[in-house]
Amino acid sequence: MNEKQTILIIEDERSISNFICRALGANDYKAIPAFSGKEGMSLFFSHSPDLVLLDLGLPDTDGLDVLAQLRGLPREVPVIIISARDRESEKVKALDMGADDYVVKPFGVSELLARIRSALRRSDRIKLSQGIQRDVYQIKDLTVDLAKHQVTLGDEEIHFTQNEFKIIELLAIHAGKVLTYDFILEHVWGPYSGSGSNQILRVNMANIRRKLKEDPSKPRYIHTELGIGYRMLDD
Ligand code: CA
Repeated sequence: MNEKQTILIIEDERSISNFICRALGANDYKAIPAFSGKEGMSLFFSHSPDLVLLDLGLPDTDGLDVLAQLRGLPREVPVIIISARDRESEKVKALDMGADDYVVKPFGVSELLARIRSALRRSDRIKLSQGIQRDVYQIKDLTVDLAKHQVTLGDEEIHFTQNEFKIIELLAIHAGKVLTYDFILEHVWGPYSGSGSNQILRVNMANIRRKLKEDPSKPRYIHTELGIGYRMLDD
């Protein structure tokens, strides 16, 4: 990879935009700042960035509208939401609309860079496997084999119920990405599961973690994003 990866930052707060641009520049990314939704879309088309950082509170348009425009395009570029702390429901909405991840203001450079690396890795994986359905997912010493319907931890095979396996499968395919409760419920229990069934998901997740011998205070595989959903940790 010789060419610098380009990141578009759609954020109207100058201080945050400058902070991000400096951090990205120092880490060998090409940063392109946009200060409104309209400018963001126009720079998106002129620079075709590898990733977009998107603030939801923009002066001219709703950040969610920008996200909808981006997701309406044929090329699916990773989008990380820059969110204010008190905007929980907006974050969930953005994730359900196809955002890859989010960072909450104020965030540190290392957190931002980790999220960016993870989203770019995922996007590379998707590009590499375009049209090819992968069968085996490896996360640390956890192996999820979709074809064999088998999960192993080190050398040990772990037995899951049908629904537990579906959850693990979903998390492994999207490793690194936050999956919202509704997203998981819909994929595992179907579109009519309703959002009142978070409890059944929590019970299943507790069983999965017990079988994976997770220490709840220091999860190795599955991280809880409080009030949002779950994320399979990929590094
Ligand atoms: Ca803003």
